[in-house]
Amino acid sequence: MADDCLFCRIVRKEIPAKLVLENEHVMAFRDINPQAPVHVLVIPREHVASLNEATDSEMIGRLTLAAAEIAKREGVAESGYRTVINTNRDAGQTVFHLHLHLLGGRDMRWPPG
Ligand code: 5GP
Ligand code: ZN
Repeated sequence: MADDCLFCRIVRKEIPAKLVLENEHVMAFRDINPQAPVHVLVIPREHVASLNEATDSEMIGRLTLAAAEIAKREGVAESGYRTVINTNRDAGQTVFHLHLHLLGGRDMRWPPG
């Protein structure tokens, strides 16, 4: 756990978040600045700064499968959704606690901006 990490503070419930899923390993909550009707962030409870620091394949699998479960619950599994992990500057990572974006509920373009 990192004392000054925003998402570690959400894990510790020091900062409120609109939780959509919580278990032993993973938390998921609504993005404060949603880019789609469904925009959920899925994070490991454990602090990992970015995908570059990730070593635990089960952790990455849990994030991905949690996103798929939430997509079903949010009613976008059939219409479609996107899962994104932004890593470092060129991808626009702003919070350095690994997180997977789940975006759905609208038509999306490819390639992304
Ligand atoms: P990144 O740009 O690092 O991939 O994504 C960080 C995301 O965290 C952004 O989409 C941003 O809107 C979201 N975010 C930043 N601060 C907070 C917060 O305090 N609460 C929530 N729920 N989301 C946040
Ligand atoms: Zn953290």
